[in-house]
Amino acid sequence: MIPFAGVHVAALVGPFFVETTAADWIGCVVVFVALMFGVSAGYHRYFSHRAYKTGRIFQFFLALLAQCTAQRGALWWAHHHRNHHRHSDQPDDIHSPGHWGFWHSHIGWVFDDTHRTDYTKIADFARFPELVLLNKLWIIPPIAFGTIVYYTMGWSGLCVTFALGVVLVAHVTFGVNSLVHLYGKRRFKTTDDSRNNWVLAIIMLGEGWHNNHHHYQSSARVGFYWWEIDMTYYILCVLSWVGIVWDLRPVPPHVYERHAAGLSAAPEVLPDVIAVKSTRG
Ligand SMILES: [Zn+2]
Ligand SMILES: [Zn+2]
Repeated sequence: MIPFAGVHVAALVGPFFVETTAADWIGCVVVFVALMFGVSAGYHRYFSHRAYKTGRIFQFFLALLAQCTAQRGALWWAHHHRNHHRHSDQPDDIHSPGHWGFWHSHIGWVFDDTHRTDYTKIADFARFPELVLLNKLWIIPPIAFGTIVYYTMGWSGLCVTFALGVVLVAHVTFGVNSLVHLYGKRRFKTTDDSRNNWVLAIIMLGEGWHNNHHHYQSSARVGFYWWEIDMTYYILCVLSWVGIVWDLRPVPPHVYERHAAGLSAAPEVLPDVIAVKSTRG
């Protein structure tokens, strides 16, 4: 609670007490985009859904980048998120706005007793000791990141580039639990309240196409059509061209066919453990 409150104070009050520069604010935007990519491509599409493949080194880098957000370890995040899909908008989904109210779904659940990682629920990644170690030492990356920013940019960089960047990423990530389960359009009749919201999709680097995602979770793209802007997917495509990631899972034809026919297939069920044989390294 104390570090959580501290970073909010630094982000929201700090800029009024220190002289900020253009570099601090540009840094904030860069940090926001980089860390949102870590959340969206790392925590979410890779560790939670295995929507594409990569090698062991880039896998570790993704976990490290995502953990600079201070949203705990990648294995904790992914097992927690798989639980969200398994119990979406049911009482066991601790960030369902329909069951627990907006503020609990957005931020209150962070203070619930949810800090343990059930490694049996994330056994496909728990077999990598470096990921387990990073998961246990989850606080080190954000502290190291903040320290580097402080020594290179000073107090104004610490408040604007680091703290404001991290706080914005946190609330935009929390908005996937709260806002896009409340506001937007529903293309697919899923068993939850998920929505598609184009404004939030731009801010969330594609994650705002959340009803698409709840309908079909395993694809590397969350914007299913060319007009559904999905920045994370575009960056993943570029990384696949240079061989850093590969086997981006597509949206299967039956999803498009059933949508075109005005039908909504039953949502895909996510298994507890997804077999992994193809991660190199
Ligand atoms: Zn998901
Ligand atoms: Zn959801």
